Amino acid sequence: MRALLKAKAGPGLELTEVPDPEPGPGEVLVRVMRTGICGTDLHIDAWDDWAARTVQPPLVLGHEFCGTVEAIGAGVTKTAVGEFVSGEGHLVCGTCRNCLAGRRHLCANTIGLGVQRQGAFAELTVLPEQNIWVHRQQVDPDVAAIFDPFGNAVHTALSFPVVGEDVLITGAGPIGLMAAAVARHAGARNVVITDISEHRLELAHKVGVDLAVNVARTTVAEAQRELGMREGFDVAMEISGQPSAVREIIANCSHGGRVAMLGLPAAEFAIDWSAVVLKMLTIKGIYGREMFETWYSMSVLLQSGLDLSPVITHRFDHTEYAEAFETARGGHCGKVILDWTR
Ligand code: ZN
Repeated sequence: MRALLKAKAGPGLELTEVPDPEPGPGEVLVRVMRTGICGTDLHIDAWDDWAARTVQPPLVLGHEFCGTVEAIGAGVTKTAVGEFVSGEGHLVCGTCRNCLAGRRHLCANTIGLGVQRQGAFAELTVLPEQNIWVHRQQVDPDVAAIFDPFGNAVHTALSFPVVGEDVLITGAGPIGLMAAAVARHAGARNVVITDISEHRLELAHKVGVDLAVNVARTTVAEAQRELGMREGFDVAMEISGQPSAVREIIANCSHGGRVAMLGLPAAEFAIDWSAVVLKMLTIKGIYGREMFETWYSMSVLLQSGLDLSPVITHRFDHTEYAEAFETARGGHCGKVILDWTR
């Protein structure tokens, strides 16, 4: 099969022939239809410090995908050949306390598809049956391909109640845009998103935010005044990894505000902890998706009319991967999709 491979340590990728994977006991073989490019894939392509520490080549990249079940291994009982599926990209141990308690997203032994295990940027990919999500309703394949990051967005957006609340989202990349769409759909009052890319702020208007704030030019405090808000945001979602965004959140949350943190900062940084204490803020780290409560939420949100189409801005054939990665890296885009069917 063809696969997009990190063949050896160092920058760059190769689209090359590798042996077809086979499903072992309890595993499902999926014929990949579409894949989404994630920031993780860009890090592995560029071979930064994190990638060099984490990835052992040769590795097939990719964890955002959809496809149809091609074959099943021994003991697979709930997944059938031909079903249209996406995959949970976090593989958990199943034996730690959190796993046994059903809190699988909290497993400390999680490994990542396309990071520590051969991934989905290929014509075929293999996952444990418990990581397969069968689509029971009609879902656009481009949307099914991004269920993994959509799940990050839903996990973040629904971490705290948003009905009637004023919501601040820092970072208008694909996950921030999806989180904004979910908060809007779920009944938030004001949804404000920040970024420094005008292109992404324009996309934010398409998913229905009340204000898209370019923090290179203005402040979140100014946005509050523009909306007639007086007491700060009830819920904040940090999806940029930027220290300045965390500081804006702390400064603009209401007393008792709740903060869901998904963005991964590149390094340690200082914040005003006295404000966290005096405002009695709740800060919650978010990683991955709840297995599989988030997946149920995603399917139901789409079924009830959530529209993610503005978030998907570019589609490439898998042979055009270099251009697709360049586009994703450039930032003048929402989600970038690769097609593996031709
Ligand atoms: Zn575990």
